[in-house]
Amino acid sequence: MKVHEFFQLGRYVDDTWAVVLKEKMDELFQHITNMDPHIKFTVEAPGPDGGVPFLDTYSTTGENGEIVTRVYRKPTHTDLYLNWHSHHPLSAKLSVIRTLFHRAEIVCSTQALLDQEKDHLRTVLRINDYPDWAIHKGSRTIPNVQDNEHTQNDTKSKPKGYIVVPYVSGLSEPFKRIMCGTGIQVYFKGASTLKSLLCSPKDKDPKDKTQNAIYCINCGDCGAKYIGETGRTVGERHTEHIKSSQSAIYRHIQETGHRIPNVSEDGVQILCKESNIVHRKIIEAMYIKYNDPILNRNIGKMDIPDIYDESLKEEGALAIPKIKQSIPKIKLKKSHRCDHNDALTINIRSEYEII
Ligand SMILES: [Zn+2]
Repeated sequence: MKVHEFFQLGRYVDDTWAVVLKEKMDELFQHITNMDPHIKFTVEAPGPDGGVPFLDTYSTTGENGEIVTRVYRKPTHTDLYLNWHSHHPLSAKLSVIRTLFHRAEIVCSTQALLDQEKDHLRTVLRINDYPDWAIHKGSRTIPNVQDNEHTQNDTKSKPKGYIVVPYVSGLSEPFKRIMCGTGIQVYFKGASTLKSLLCSPKDKDPKDKTQNAIYCINCGDCGAKYIGETGRTVGERHTEHIKSSQSAIYRHIQETGHRIPNVSEDGVQILCKESNIVHRKIIEAMYIKYNDPILNRNIGKMDIPDIYDESLKEEGALAIPKIKQSIPKIKLKKSHRCDHNDALTINIRSEYEII
């Protein structure tokens, strides 16, 4: 089949849309199916009204042979969108409206279809508890995105950096305004998701293979504790603690002759997992501050801001997983790598700078 035999051809990732003569359809299908035995194609023939769905567009042929397009929803579509009363920033809710109306504008090929789509959107948005003022605000004509970016770049100076914090209604909005004044752009994230509330379906890593962890080692004889963190496996780090003369645990064994439990024993606990090194060090410092483990006493510690003291005092170690959720995600540039040894004096401010 030759290229000129396609009246129209469009592709988006792995979906292709083509207008070809009816009698050429089988030939085209055979051609692409034979191209590679490992790739199986399916063809979606026109429905009773002669229309074909493609992504979120439904195309039919008009009276004069022109292609007519409208928004397509699968028969199983529920018309459920982010509810107006959901605990999300106003901007996220307005962008739901804006996105839906913007799609209607670019997909619907006739004014009648556009009006019909907009009526449908107003109805379903009201069902999702959106007030009329928000629907009106969000549905106003969307300015050209590229033009908008240009004007924004011209008038606004670049932010010094950005942070991502959990969204708390009523508190986050003034916080964002204050931070904007200092040149820091604030983005919000959901504080808890279904994924974070439900248990993980994956099997737990064996303790010695666990990476990116904050762990606690208890002496088998006197119960003295050591709390540390590692990006490598807890098993590797445990071996280093026992064998390295730099280690507080090694010194404890030498001075007292006490026995340190193996990783598989209850004496070694995984307190928390965190892949971000800055967060891991902050969380480690919180566990150290709360537990005050004897074997960490002569080791440099990172200062934890006093703001966390009240939560730590009231709820103890139980507060730490909650605090972990609230540590701002700050994009950092590493000035230099830090060594993972016991004597490390952790000072995040000198090791990292905000970019
Ligand atoms: Zn001991």
